[in-house]
Amino acid sequence: MDLSGFHISWPLALAAVATIGYLLGRKNRPDANDAVRRSLLELKRAQSVALELEKITLTVRKSLSQHHSSVNKFKERVNRMSDLHQEIAWKELCREADEILKPTLQLAAQIAGAYDEIRQQSAKLMSFTEARTDSLTGIKNRRGLDDALHAQITLLARYEIPFAAAIFDIDKFKQVNDLHGHLHGDRVLQNLAKLMAENIRETDILARYGGEEFVVLMPETDLAGAGIFCERLREKVQQELKITISGGLAAASFEDNRESLFARADAALYEAKTAGRNRIYAHTGKESVPVEQESLQYS
Ligand code: GH3
Ligand code: MG
Ligand code: MG
Repeated sequence: MDLSGFHISWPLALAAVATIGYLLGRKNRPDANDAVRRSLLELKRAQSVALELEKITLTVRKSLSQHHSSVNKFKERVNRMSDLHQEIAWKELCREADEILKPTLQLAAQIAGAYDEIRQQSAKLMSFTEARTDSLTGIKNRRGLDDALHAQITLLARYEIPFAAAIFDIDKFKQVNDLHGHLHGDRVLQNLAKLMAENIRETDILARYGGEEFVVLMPETDLAGAGIFCERLREKVQQELKITISGGLAAASFEDNRESLFARADAALYEAKTAGRNRIYAHTGKESVPVEQESLQYS
């Protein structure tokens, strides 16, 4: 349909570009998170699309009412002219004008409806992201992690894409709160999330698992490789944040579900804590071993 004489074609084009851009952005991003930056970016993008659509909807409504008033003015003029005893000819003209404008008005109404629909979808996308984002740190929350974990387990079962999972827990964090206050504790959590986000791979998935516990899922990574990453991260946290973390590590197997995988990682974390904290343990499938002492092979 030719829209060249139609005032709202530009806003429509802009809305389509904004929305398609947003959706493509979501679809094409690498599957794992660049945590803080990406979540916030996604929220911002959804917000700006919603704002844009809000403006466009107003423009459409304005155009629509302008069309209505043009038609009405035209009708009034025709009615006045009908006093000149050319009633039949003018009424016919009026009917024709109505016919000409009808598709335009219908289209405008359809577009206004479509904008409303897009706005609702955009709001849904926003709340979808918000519901899966931890408000303190900006990384995934438990729900976001559950979705990502489900995807990784499915990829492993269907395409044999392996992955490892690590649980990190801040050592003696209660003391940090007690000594420096809860607000300081919150800032420590934010700084830790940021440091982790900066150090994981593009394809890794980072989430806040609980109060002061964090999880990293590492696709295409075996236990030995994940051990090297965790150990490097542990050292970095100690150097840069002046706190220490302990970590428990497990590699997913075909038989695993969420619970069995996390039970092994948790058991390894428990060993790391009881062995003195500030260390990483990995569960080999049989037992938990410190990462720096074993050549890690999943069995
Ligand atoms: P451990 O080395 O055994 O892990 O000792 P811990 O003190 O870290 O462990 P514990 O589980 O006893 O305490 C965890 C503390 O984390 C309790 C709570 O004060 C703190 N915490 C949990 N969530 C938050 C939060 O959102 N903000 C702050 N500031 N503190 C939190
Ligand atoms: Mg804890
Ligand atoms: Mg702790």
